[in-house]
Amino acid sequence: MKRTLGIVLLTAIIIILIHSYIQIHSNEPTDEMLNDDALSKSTNHAIDLEMTEAGTFRISAEVMVKNDSQESWSDMAFFFVPNEMNSKSNVAEVNSISSAGHQMDYELNNGVLFIELDSELLPGKQQTILVEYSLTVPEDGLRLTRSENNIYLAHWYPMLAEYDTGWQVNAYDPKGESYETGYGDYAITYRLPDEYLITTSAPDGPAQASSSGTLIGKTIKDFYAAFLNPADWQVTERKSGETELRVFVPAESAILEETAELSVEAFAFFEQNIGDYPFAELDLIANDGYMEYPNIVEVPMDEALLDSILVHEIAHQWFYYLVSNDPYENAWLDESLTEFSTGLFLSDYYGDEDSGFQTAQAYKASTTPKPYADLALDEFDTAAYYATIYGEVPLLMKGFFDQQGGNEAALEFLAAYYEEFQFRRVTKQQFRDFFEGYFEGDQQEFLNSWLQT
Ligand SMILES: [Zn+2]
Repeated sequence: MKRTLGIVLLTAIIIILIHSYIQIHSNEPTDEMLNDDALSKSTNHAIDLEMTEAGTFRISAEVMVKNDSQESWSDMAFFFVPNEMNSKSNVAEVNSISSAGHQMDYELNNGVLFIELDSELLPGKQQTILVEYSLTVPEDGLRLTRSENNIYLAHWYPMLAEYDTGWQVNAYDPKGESYETGYGDYAITYRLPDEYLITTSAPDGPAQASSSGTLIGKTIKDFYAAFLNPADWQVTERKSGETELRVFVPAESAILEETAELSVEAFAFFEQNIGDYPFAELDLIANDGYMEYPNIVEVPMDEALLDSILVHEIAHQWFYYLVSNDPYENAWLDESLTEFSTGLFLSDYYGDEDSGFQTAQAYKASTTPKPYADLALDEFDTAAYYATIYGEVPLLMKGFFDQQGGNEAALEFLAAYYEEFQFRRVTKQQFRDFFEGYFEGDQQEFLNSWLQT
């Protein structure tokens, strides 16, 4: 269907801005196709999850943490954000935190959980922490939410923070991703009071309702799980390359085919032009969540928003998940590259060099962007954050590559970047160094025009 600018785009932007304020981003996992490098994770999770009634859970989360830094640790930090996401203090209630049967002292403030260790954890050593808690998923919540008998578990367990000469933690900020967690492996057992469709970051297999099971996911960042009421959804499955795309749209929706077709087109484009997707399954849930999670995305119910939002969330699998970054200090590293990739796909899809960048142009025009992209989340207001990260930076890149061979040259750059940094956490300096090394000549003037030195 031909897109028109104007009302559709403005509607999209208003909806996105509203959503961004009250909720935002997303994913899902799979499996045995990973290479060995990707499998050596230093964090292992064994989580048992029992739903006692719709949306109410008893959870026991065992996290084995290995200290792979050069420093000894006297504490560990996790992001535990259910109460922050929903501004209610009773969404999650911690019952106990222990290690090897000993109760641990802890503090939970602004979504950051610090656990005191009884003795220092030396480099190379590991320790297992057990967090037992109850979770009551609110109706109309932010990301972690329930809609009747459909339950969406986003950021629902203690997520180990990154350690880089200190724990990299920030107070929760709903305008973007204020929590960052590394890659880990997961074994999740679940027991549910009814049969649900299971859609998670792990490879879930054919869409069949079940009430209990075990999910195994490897090399996943934040593990997402949705339990969907089978009567509320229609499902189709498409194969693209080695990956199964499972598309869930509401039972009454008329856009199952359109959603599936565009998903396959975008996914195949990113695989062919940026790099291989090493997981067996990508799930798409049309619940208007507009959010990326590993191997799973929450996408629009509205056909008019598929181009701008569905494609963006799929592109996040490459930038955010398969290449990681600190989304609090440098949100542009995933959001701007994702929006730039979205523009490249849409331009190709519509058969020209430019038409895919209308959303970025509308973002940029919505308010005055900040002079630099590498501001922390708390240095942006919401409108400037979107104008800068989703508008200005993708368009700066578009302008740069227009002088370097156009969209094809841009895709070649992204492919080289992806190859270099897959399953790694990229810093601003690493991006700058890679960018400078990739191109002949001095690129400092361009980089310094939107990144602080
Ligand atoms: Zn995004």
